[in-house]
Amino acid sequence: MLYTIESIAKQIGAKRLGNLDTNIDWLLTDSRSLCFPEETLFFALPTKRSDGSKYIPDLYARGVRNFVVSSKLNDNKTYNNCNFLLVPNPLKALQKLAEQHREQFQIPVIGITGSNGKTIVKEWLHQLLSSERNIVRSPRSYNSQIGVPISVWQMSETSELGIFEAGISETGEMRSLQSIIKPTIGVLTNIGGAHQENFFSLQEKCMEKLLLFKDSEVIIYNGDNELISNCVAKSMFTAREIAWSCKDMDRPLYISGIKKESESTTISYRYLEMDNSYCIPFIDDASIENSLNCLAVCLYLMLSPEQITQRMAHLEPIAMRLEVKEGKNNCVLINDSYNSDLASLDIALDFLYRRSLSKGLKRTLILSDLLETGQSTTTLYRKVAQLVHSRGIEKIIGVGNEISSCASRFDIEKYFFPNTEALQASDVFKKLKNEIILVKGSRSFDFDIVSENLELKVHETILEINLNALINNLNYYRSKLKPETKMVCMVKAFAYGAGSYEIAKTLQEHRVDYLAVAVADEGSDLRKAGITGSIIIMNPEMTAFKTLFDYKLEPEVYSFHLLDALIKEAEKEGITNFPIHIKLDTGMHRLGFAVEEVPALIKRLKAQNAVIPRSVFSHMVGSDSDQFDAFTRRQIELFDKASTELQTSFPHKILRHICNSAGIERFPEAQLDMVRLGIGLYGVSPIDNSIIYNVSTLKTTILQIRNVASEDTVGYSRKGHLTRDSRIAAIPIGYADGLNRHLGNGKGYCLVNGKKAFYVGNICMDVCMIDVTDIDCKEGDKVIIFGDDLPITVLSDMLETIPYEVLTSVSTRVKRIYFQD
Ligand SMILES: *Cc1c(COP(=O)(O)O)cnc(C)c1O
Repeated sequence: MLYTIESIAKQIGAKRLGNLDTNIDWLLTDSRSLCFPEETLFFALPTKRSDGSKYIPDLYARGVRNFVVSSKLNDNKTYNNCNFLLVPNPLKALQKLAEQHREQFQIPVIGITGSNGKTIVKEWLHQLLSSERNIVRSPRSYNSQIGVPISVWQMSETSELGIFEAGISETGEMRSLQSIIKPTIGVLTNIGGAHQENFFSLQEKCMEKLLLFKDSEVIIYNGDNELISNCVAKSMFTAREIAWSCKDMDRPLYISGIKKESESTTISYRYLEMDNSYCIPFIDDASIENSLNCLAVCLYLMLSPEQITQRMAHLEPIAMRLEVKEGKNNCVLINDSYNSDLASLDIALDFLYRRSLSKGLKRTLILSDLLETGQSTTTLYRKVAQLVHSRGIEKIIGVGNEISSCASRFDIEKYFFPNTEALQASDVFKKLKNEIILVKGSRSFDFDIVSENLELKVHETILEINLNALINNLNYYRSKLKPETKMVCMVKAFAYGAGSYEIAKTLQEHRVDYLAVAVADEGSDLRKAGITGSIIIMNPEMTAFKTLFDYKLEPEVYSFHLLDALIKEAEKEGITNFPIHIKLDTGMHRLGFAVEEVPALIKRLKAQNAVIPRSVFSHMVGSDSDQFDAFTRRQIELFDKASTELQTSFPHKILRHICNSAGIERFPEAQLDMVRLGIGLYGVSPIDNSIIYNVSTLKTTILQIRNVASEDTVGYSRKGHLTRDSRIAAIPIGYADGLNRHLGNGKGYCLVNGKKAFYVGNICMDVCMIDVTDIDCKEGDKVIIFGDDLPITVLSDMLETIPYEVLTSVSTRVKRIYFQD
């Protein structure tokens, strides 16, 4: 549904500055999620610590032209050709817009609230109901004052049922969520301790939550829960009630039996005088309760008992995320800084316990104060201690004043620190060894730093990266493009060996439009490190879709097999309009849709709304050489035709791109909407192997020098024959660092104090030897493997390979050092 900026300004009562005419399709509050700048309206929301308006310059540079800002804001910067909508309160404006959007739909809407299980009930309802209805639902757990309007905004002409969650943490919040969601069917999952700190009592919180159902036709809840039953009675809504009960046969939905087997549970129920049963593939109590809430909704929506039984049997779990990493001193790290409450602690401890069994490592927990549980400190840590003991933890390291005050409750090896700095400065921290460590902290404790410091990194020989040179190369290629042409910078393969994060950060500062990596993990690593710009994944693995969604990584899609799997997974996760990049095969014959497949592709894309094409591209086979120019032109022609066909079938802009580094230089007329810059960025001209600005220098130092008599040999298998008495230096770099073994035995050389020193004998794994007989040098002197004065292309020529391979071979154990002059 498109709105004009004019009508939006009116709807939210904004004063409009600027007169650019645009249609708005996307609402944005988090600049990291930007995807379709042209059709996006950004709400600059003030937060406790910051203000969304500080992202405006960046968003403007990335093409966003429409902003809702607080009228209090006096930004004296001027922006051309854009709209600023001034309102007293941007958050209220966002909510109002969503409210008015919601009013246009007369479809059933399920509103879910409660302390736990909202997301699972929502996802399960989707699994149960989506075969005959087009469902719109909250992405992930978007249930806040910001998440709810963004969710409801997704309602469109094709929606037949809405499922939205609402979460609150203080009184007064539910009223605004109610008027945005306007649920016709209300589900209250349960009432527990989460977010209790801002409520006087559980009852107060329950009453507040029930406000969501003010105008609903029906309310669904656990009739055995006295608190909830009392509160529902007190709220005096006129809605019909479907309270389920395992005890009271007079309740509308009577649960007559719950039978757990080893891997499934059978549940019998009576509804409208009829007895039926279903089975779910779960045995835990929370899943059973969630399924009962889903059952009530299905019954209300008049699914037949057979349909219910059949679908319940196939419910799928909704996953939780935990990271496992290799740590220093033979430790294994499990990082879970997402959530800090008892339920998630238990899950993480269980996970740790299972992983520890095969490894024989000591089980250690580093835990911060748990915040936002609303329970008294003593009760809370009594429970924590119980969990810790029952899950076999052998050592606890507590951080924070609350957990420290409960130290006596733990009777295992234990250490406590008032804060994260004290922990990191301690011997306890430095001496962690042969342990499997769960690092679990509330956000405010910054435990990300803790895990970072525990992670394994080995430094030795270094690869120096000149960031200025990188930028010079970027600008060199930019100068060949029109100002409006967008750019993807390839940071795949660890940024061609230069190190993805620093390179990505630098490129982001210089406003490139997209970064591209090969696999999902490369992308998630960038996200975890704080890269917020758009990232394309060139080779998305079927097993990593979840990572794509979690980290907003946009996949390349090259086949129907991949497309269908991606759509299926996105639908399962409740994701809509996830941006993808379509690859066409115009002659490379590696990956990509054949151009003849484009009509079928269009049809498939139009039949769903889980994913949306953001760009379409193809790859040149021989753009670096004139011997292939006719072929390249043919590729461009094929691509132009097929990509135009795709574009004309969709109302939104789909970016078209085909040029790589050599393509930019040699076929600037084919720059289209965007280009993909790779090797040139790293300083190597793909056309003639000349160096543009040298970016990378691989260097090391001389460890030891010795005199070797001419009749002796050097290194393994006595391969290093000498022709004279020689001075031989050993340097700490070997094939495991990426120094190719074929350079050994006099084939290649490095530079010592500016002079050529040939490799003597076989290159070993971690060390190699060089001949410095004629060079004035001493132990500790610098050695250049490649760099300004020994171009990488000299090495690639000696090795009869391409510079790409030499660059990407430098192993990750080589420490990267970045500098700007
Ligand atoms: C790696 C890659 C590029 C960049 O190529 P360069 O020759 O390094 O400029 C562009 N497009 C695709 C699809 C790639 O895989």
